[in-house]
Amino acid sequence: TTDIYYDDDAEVSTLDDETVAVLGYGSQGHAHALNLHDSGVDVVVGLREGSSSRSAAEADGLEVATPADAVAQASYVSVLVPDTVQSDVYENAIEPNLEAGDTLQFAHGLNIHYNQIQPPEGVDVTMVAPKSPGHLVRRNYENDEGTPGLLAIYQDTTGDAEERALAYAKGIGCTRAGVIETTFQEEVESDLFGEQAVLCGGVTSLVKHGYETLVDAGYSPEIAYFECLNELKLIVDLMYEGGNMEMWNSVSDTAEYGGLTRGDRIVDESVRENMEEVLEEVQNGEFTREWIVENQAGRPSYSQLRQAEQEHDIEEVGGRLRDLFAWAEEEEQAEDEDESV
Ligand code: NDP
Ligand code: MG
Ligand code: MG
Repeated sequence: TTDIYYDDDAEVSTLDDETVAVLGYGSQGHAHALNLHDSGVDVVVGLREGSSSRSAAEADGLEVATPADAVAQASYVSVLVPDTVQSDVYENAIEPNLEAGDTLQFAHGLNIHYNQIQPPEGVDVTMVAPKSPGHLVRRNYENDEGTPGLLAIYQDTTGDAEERALAYAKGIGCTRAGVIETTFQEEVESDLFGEQAVLCGGVTSLVKHGYETLVDAGYSPEIAYFECLNELKLIVDLMYEGGNMEMWNSVSDTAEYGGLTRGDRIVDESVRENMEEVLEEVQNGEFTREWIVENQAGRPSYSQLRQAEQEHDIEEVGGRLRDLFAWAEEEEQAEDEDESV
């Protein structure tokens, strides 16, 4: 069975004699740095010259240095800059300043798993990945609540990699909720697959197809928007609370019978085959190679796809409806800026 760690399994004091460098002060970076700081850990934030995040980190009372200086000062390095710039930052600022016995830590295993970063022997390589956007990681901590997280050890040369990573996980509040042990491979591959097939890619595609089917058949876009997009939240909330059964038990018998008889006709075996193909591209590195090349080329397809998504009718209809109805206001205020999952 899977190991899950809680507060009793970790001691923040393990990091008493260490300085933790948090590179980046974005979604995850600000949350980790502030939570660690409030937990009594010595933190230095690493930001490049002219960084737009610098004033925020300083205003929050944290020490700021360049990434290179932060790494040089620290024995524990948490890499929280965007995945697409990590190998650059690693090469220029981290690697030259890493020492034997240091910990190099990530919140997502992409660059390690696909060999974009190849750390030297002699350092510990770990992952502490909150399963939540950074703004919630911070908010939960301030409310004495926890954020569930993942922990993985890629390389343990000191023999203390796990103990130190658990101390970090406790420092940011993750062991309050529970930390699940995993591997870099499992975290990366399941994360990429989930966001592509189900969470981000799959669900938006399903919504758009449903919306277009209704609108093309002559139903009003407003009604189609409510049915296919807006109501999704109510359904997902029920699934989140109590699984699929909570949802089935809460909807009408008509909705349940219709869904049970029609769902597998919509998302049928061919979709399952497509999912297996997408998973294979994740496993064999094809997706990551494509994404690296796309970034090197200045993101031409990405920009185009984004633009097309922006121009889809459902955006205009949704924007109009959200302005007209009060229900979205509260949520938009509470909404976290970050979309990563
Ligand atoms: P962000 O995009 O929020 O990071 C932005 C920060 O990185 C800013 O402080 C920015 O500073 C800095 N930065 C950007 N480019 C550079 C650069 N070239 N050199 C130095 N600093 C730079 O990242 P996230 O918090 O979203 O992601 C960080 C890690 O956490 C990733 O590995 C991600 O996969 C993982 N993760 C993210 C989650 C999320 O919800 N966001 C959830 C779980 C894991 P500047 O002002 O200089 O641009
Ligand atoms: Mg209905
Ligand atoms: Mg992801």
